Amino acid sequence: MRKESVLVWFRNDLRLHDQEALCEANRKFEHVIPIYIFDPRFFQAQSFGFPKMGAFRLKFLIESVRDLQRNLQHIGSDLLVRIGFPEHVLPELAKQLNVKHIHFSEEAAPEERTIEQQLQEALIHHGILFDSWWQSTLCAKKDLPFSIPQLPDVFTKFRVQVERNWNHTPPLPAPTHLPTLPANAQQAIAENQFPPYPEIQTDQRAAKKFVGGEQAAIDHLNQYIWQKEWIATYEETRNGMLGEDYSSKLSPWLALGCISPRFIFSEVKRFEATRLKNKSTYWLIFELLWRDYFRFATLKYGAQFFKLGGIKNIAPQLIENKLLEKSWCEGQTGFPFIDANMRELRHTGFMSNRGRQNVASFFVHVLQQDWRIGAAWFESQLIDYDPCSNWGNWCYIAGVGNDPRKDRFFNTAAQSERYDTHGEFMKYWCPELHEIPPRYLHRFFEYSETTIHQLGLTLGTDYPRPVCSFIATTH
Ligand SMILES: Cc1cc2nc3c(=O)[nH]c(=O)nc-3n(C[C@H](O)[C@H](O)[C@H](O)COP(=O)(O)OP(=O)(O)OC[C@H]3O[C@@H](n4cnc5c(N)ncnc54)[C@H](O)[C@@H]3O)c2cc1C
Repeated sequence: MRKESVLVWFRNDLRLHDQEALCEANRKFEHVIPIYIFDPRFFQAQSFGFPKMGAFRLKFLIESVRDLQRNLQHIGSDLLVRIGFPEHVLPELAKQLNVKHIHFSEEAAPEERTIEQQLQEALIHHGILFDSWWQSTLCAKKDLPFSIPQLPDVFTKFRVQVERNWNHTPPLPAPTHLPTLPANAQQAIAENQFPPYPEIQTDQRAAKKFVGGEQAAIDHLNQYIWQKEWIATYEETRNGMLGEDYSSKLSPWLALGCISPRFIFSEVKRFEATRLKNKSTYWLIFELLWRDYFRFATLKYGAQFFKLGGIKNIAPQLIENKLLEKSWCEGQTGFPFIDANMRELRHTGFMSNRGRQNVASFFVHVLQQDWRIGAAWFESQLIDYDPCSNWGNWCYIAGVGNDPRKDRFFNTAAQSERYDTHGEFMKYWCPELHEIPPRYLHRFFEYSETTIHQLGLTLGTDYPRPVCSFIATTH
């Protein structure tokens, strides 16, 4: 063991379990100094005019960092917390604390990777050594059966090859003890900096009240798998939109790394071995592979994922109309299925996968807006925002990403009929539609204002007029 100190920079890996950067630090160095840095580029900057990080996510992030600090204190250590640019803060702190090594985890998205590069240059300049680990995916990068440039552009090809060559590494246990911080680091803790905690209330109607942190993540997984056994019906319920139980709701914790996908995998396998193995238990793993796929695809394509033409370099036809964009963001399009989903997002920071697919398709293919604006709004609003999953899925739906089909289009009326047959979801988020029979809700745009008025609803006053006449084509 080296009689030296190492800084462990936590990023989107806010956990103690399955934390190789930390475990290696603990194994090799006498002193381990954990640090988290709130980077203002992520919580103060704008993207297409929207704050990059809305209040729900900032709250969840602060809770997750506080939880990490508590967990580190329980095992004898603590957490330094700063606000600033990591590529400036870390070399300065290393100098101040007389540290010659830094450990951190690698990220996949270009902004995070640029910061990593700038940090590495600064560390080299100051003669500080560093090591990094890839620890955000279920399938380790080193275990992929192809190099990143050879990654298949179609998910199924990726999945089949990964499953055929599956080499599952079990998650690392959390360390039970860390050395106490050296005196200079203990002093530095007194200067910890947190952004103001947003005083935002979760809407009572939210599918789940998300609380950030590793402890809440593990409690939630236990509830989902072991206590309620909701996983046993995941495959049938996952397209739902109402309630806590229709899908795993693990995404906010996965996005910040409060829980590791390898840990989820091992719990699912344990459930399969001891209670039940079925299509549903497999399907959760299948979805985690989608998550992996978008991470590796982002590594492959980098900034191209964030350009209008996407990875296919196609120029979509756009209509310039700020009012359409605004009505979509605010859930005021006059299409109840779209509005209900968009209102849920605004009021809670969450939306189901079925909802996301539909509102994204509507924004791109019906309103013909720039998909990057929709993606930026999601980035701002989603509590589970993850650059790879968000921009990758948007690109996919816009027809400029990893979709082998060219015409991915969700017919809002047909989807509403199928997934909200009785209109419960629409009425839940648009209570002004309470008295309207479902068959009208699915196809408002097909009826005259007089017909709707006879049902007791005045369009333009009680509820918006549809922003466009909708022509269903496929699905
Ligand atoms: C336009 C659009 C934007 C999206 N943006 C995000 C995002 O910013 N962050 C995010 O985590 N997911 C995103 N998704 C994927 C998916 O909608 C969410 O992961 C899912 O709804 C989260 O709920 P859950 O945890 O209950 O999911 P479950 O259905 O329980 O799935 C389990 C886990 O698998 C992963 N997963 C499931 N579906 C996908 C998918 N299509 N792509 C990638 N990973 C998936 C997630 O990590 C999820 O937590 C987006 C999908 C669309 C269509």
